Amino acid sequence: MALLGGILASDMAIDLGTANTLVYVKGKGIVLNEPSVVAYHVKDGKKQVLAVGEDAKLMLGRTPGSIEAIRPMREGVIADFDVAEEMIKYFIRKVLRRGWPRPKIIVCVPHGATPVEKRAIRQSVLGAGARRAGLIAEPIAAAIGAGMPITDPTGNMVVDIGGGTTEVAVLSLGDIVYARSVRVGGDRMDEAIISYLRRQHNLLIGESTAERVKTSIGTARMPDDGRGQSMEIRGRDLLNGVPKETEINQAQVAEALAEPVQTICEAVMTALEATPPDLAADIVDRGVMLTGGGALLGDLDLALREQTGLAISVADESLNCVALGTGKALEYEKQLRHVIDYDS
Ligand code: ADP
Ligand code: MG
Repeated sequence: MALLGGILASDMAIDLGTANTLVYVKGKGIVLNEPSVVAYHVKDGKKQVLAVGEDAKLMLGRTPGSIEAIRPMREGVIADFDVAEEMIKYFIRKVLRRGWPRPKIIVCVPHGATPVEKRAIRQSVLGAGARRAGLIAEPIAAAIGAGMPITDPTGNMVVDIGGGTTEVAVLSLGDIVYARSVRVGGDRMDEAIISYLRRQHNLLIGESTAERVKTSIGTARMPDDGRGQSMEIRGRDLLNGVPKETEINQAQVAEALAEPVQTICEAVMTALEATPPDLAADIVDRGVMLTGGGALLGDLDLALREQTGLAISVADESLNCVALGTGKALEYEKQLRHVIDYDS
């Protein structure tokens, strides 16, 4: 039975992100990767879930009055506990095998999560059928996933740029020396593009168009030729209300994104200043690691290097780092036991 338990129990690690949720199954790797979105309608004062994940994301910004599609983790905190719980249960049950032993599940939570939020996540995981629920701090998971030597007695800085927040952390000897979260991430970049086009071009575009601009031609740095590549976008002309097509280039996107990029740079500098001198010296030597989807913004590493003077690397598979790191904590639990919290 021990053997059966070892092979069959699909112990899981979950990255519950503000934009995307990933599930890692022990011995298998990442088996699920879907947007952290829930669509529901309200009937007799009760929320009835209609769709979760990929299907629900298609409804964002396109729902009729009776249906709402929301991102329950939007700002890096749980915005709606009931809906978040439904989402967590849905993803776990999608991966869970019927009739198999109840699994152990580790979920990563933002460093700044409150005790109430931690308890809510733990309860949702147990409610979904887990035998045991562990939590791991997101910066630690990100650093493990990026392959940083977090248990060494040296300072390591990891900057995880997600949808809702950017978490900057300094780690040494497997623990967090400094961590701070700013509410600037991919969402804020999308909003900055929307408001730039509204101000400069009287054009109203939706969130998904803004995200597409960002991921296709987004850049943190003015292109050398003052223009860069461009793309066609469609929106509504705010002067006469009719649909309008226009072109946007990389120089414009860089201008739109200047503020969020600046906030991320400042968060890195603030962290370095707050780090004890010896560890700060290690970071100056070893550089800074970027993880999360926001790390993929064009030339963000260059812009950060120019503004902070630090060497900056973007992690391989930056979108998967937290899930892979949480998964690794699960796989190597004997060695990494101290980073997992089973009972707070
Ligand atoms: P979270 O952990 O909060 O769920 P992720 O690490 O999954 O967030 O990152 C999602 C964010 O990354 C989204 O805002 C998405 O638009 C952004 N993103 C994904 N790819 C790129 C890219 N190539 N350039 C810029 N931003 C990107
Ligand atoms: Mg994340």
